[in-house]
Amino acid sequence: MLHRHLPGFIEVICGSMFSGKTEELVRRLKRAQIARQKTQVFKPVIDNRYSSDHVQSHDANRIGSRAVDKARDILKLVDDNTRVVGIDEAQFFDESVVDVAQKLAYRGIRVIVAGLDMDFRGLPFGPMPKLLAVAEQVTKLSAVCVVCGNVASRSQRIAAPQGSESTRILVGAKDLYEARCRFCHEPDADAAMQATLPMSLGVSVAPPADEAEQRA
Ligand code: ADP
Ligand code: MG
Repeated sequence: MLHRHLPGFIEVICGSMFSGKTEELVRRLKRAQIARQKTQVFKPVIDNRYSSDHVQSHDANRIGSRAVDKARDILKLVDDNTRVVGIDEAQFFDESVVDVAQKLAYRGIRVIVAGLDMDFRGLPFGPMPKLLAVAEQVTKLSAVCVVCGNVASRSQRIAAPQGSESTRILVGAKDLYEARCRFCHEPDADAAMQATLPMSLGVSVAPPADEAEQRA
């Protein structure tokens, strides 16, 4: 009998908001399903924009997923016969997501991770730099700059609920962010912005103390 080599490796899909990361993740997972490979998809609990049991693109392309509190929960939840694991919005997990992805890959699983490479200030986002470093394959996608039409690599925060100007994590889509290129991106615009939206439009989470210190 032919003995198949286990194809454990890590793929990272990164880019700005609206660059099509989730769309690409869903596309790859659907193809794996066509190949009759068991897939499982996870996302952090914090990303509640569309649904807690799906990952969904801004274009309404979606696939069933499980929301987890911590990246380490994924290790316990992956079934023995799962061949492909998708993780969306990986930037919201802590650094342990890197170890989780590595462990899954060593188990012979194809791990597809999607996440924002930069936050709204244009700074590397959470565990993404490390994930990019350990991945076998990296795909960096771009959106269209809504100001000039060029290639957009940055996410511009365009509105923030009252009192959240300095927070890094504010989950939202078109009402809170837009895609911009390097030259149209204004990383500090957020600070000067007047609050215009009610809290219900997004989730705001205070940054960890060490991060707040770093940025002070
Ligand atoms: P991401 O997960 O990277 O935020 P999605 O996969 O959710 O992106 O959404 C990508 C879709 O967003 C595109 O196919 C397009 O329909 C839509 N979209 C909205 N605004 C833009 C933009 N400025 N540039 C590119 N696509 C955009
Ligand atoms: Mg997405």
